[in-house]
Amino acid sequence: MTMRYVSTRGGTPAQRFGEVLLGGLAADGGLAIPESYPVIDAGELARLRALAYPELAFEILHRFADDLPAEDLRAMLARAYTRERFGSAEITPLRTLEPGLHILGLSNGPTLAFKDIAMQFLGEVFEYALERAGTTMNILGATSGDTGSSAEHAMRGKRRLKVFMLSPYGKMSPFQAAQMYALPDTNIINLAVRGVFDDCQDMVKAVNADAEFKALFRIGAVNSINWARIAAQVVYYFKGYFAATLGDDEQVSFAVPSGNFGNIYAGHVARSMGLPIRRLIAATNENDVLDEFFRTGVYRVRKASEVHQTSSPSMDISKASNFERYVSDLVGRDAGRLAALWRQLDVAGSFELASAAERVRIAATGFVSGSSTHRDRIDTIRSVYRTYGTLIDTHTADGVKVGLQYRESGVPLICLETALPVKFAESIREAIGREPERPPGFENLEDLPQRVSVIDPDPEQVKRIIAQHATS
Ligand SMILES: *Cc1c(COP(=O)(O)O)cnc(C)c1O
Repeated sequence: MTMRYVSTRGGTPAQRFGEVLLGGLAADGGLAIPESYPVIDAGELARLRALAYPELAFEILHRFADDLPAEDLRAMLARAYTRERFGSAEITPLRTLEPGLHILGLSNGPTLAFKDIAMQFLGEVFEYALERAGTTMNILGATSGDTGSSAEHAMRGKRRLKVFMLSPYGKMSPFQAAQMYALPDTNIINLAVRGVFDDCQDMVKAVNADAEFKALFRIGAVNSINWARIAAQVVYYFKGYFAATLGDDEQVSFAVPSGNFGNIYAGHVARSMGLPIRRLIAATNENDVLDEFFRTGVYRVRKASEVHQTSSPSMDISKASNFERYVSDLVGRDAGRLAALWRQLDVAGSFELASAAERVRIAATGFVSGSSTHRDRIDTIRSVYRTYGTLIDTHTADGVKVGLQYRESGVPLICLETALPVKFAESIREAIGREPERPPGFENLEDLPQRVSVIDPDPEQVKRIIAQHATS
């Protein structure tokens, strides 16, 4: 069956993977979703169990990207998922803390956070698509930490891509800043903005609002709503399932530290494809937009001023960008209803899906949720370290804390590790009284020479810089 993508809001013609790949939002403001999820039956599941990561990734991704020649996709995945880039042939190794309790290591890529898994594929498939179209792209992004460095490491050295990344000057940890600024590649342009993350994001919006400039310089994005990123994340749910079970009649639950809902939405896709997932446990920090929804049925986005700065900063969000895709499934793909809900969100700042029938629908998707505080994270890091000798980061700790609340006997619980502790050394010191270890290759990161320009929060200056450096 041919895979086609439609907009959640129903206002655009169906497209193939290659067409949604480089686009951002659908023209009607919605997000691209598959017309229907591909189904993997029990026989196929048994066959996939034995596959190494790149082959498993091929089996999943070719169902979503059936307009790419199979051999080309295979080659891209073989380049993206290597021992060199991810530290082991397993790519996402499973650590067992005790029988039935596991940590799935998603953070062994070049920037030590789970975003590398999707981003390394994106780097390959972007370059491939631009090559085929005979064109180039200038990626403009804003980051508060993990996304920017992950994108830069995925796009570095790519001939048809330049990356212009805005980051708040002096607001990231020295380690995070060095992960970006120490890259020697000339297609990576780091711009440190005298301001906060919101200023950076506003500048990206302002540049994109200039349609003429955007078209002239082929401005692109790599944000978390990109469908290729979601599809690439589906793979490790399968990998984790196989690693934690012996047979395909077993169910597992996943605990997922959540912000923009991209990671856990990929879990929802895997479950919709037939992977035997019992529960998807959404864990938030103090920014509990998602937890509030699953508890009450009310989705209420926050104002920028209401966002808490927390010790799991990659989950400090005011709204969950990918949530619209999930809600589209909850309303039975009724695009009119979905569009009406998002209009209401624009006007009133919230909507409600709290009728008895809607509660039943939400429960049928397996979602449950919880939130945690800084105290919870520190306590969880300490107790996991003392009990199991395993050190986890603050985001993973949010997931473990909430996951344990929902643990059921006889159902393996897989907690997704979304970053390594070394990225958040201050909280680790607070929890266990010493520094986290540095993985090999990161010993002197902060001492390397850096390439960054400090600029004012002025979109016109960004445009001038892009015009100067853009690929032609
Ligand atoms: C991005 C990120 C998250 C949140 O993932 P979403 O897909 O936005 O829900 C969690 N932990 C870390 C370390 C991250 O970088």
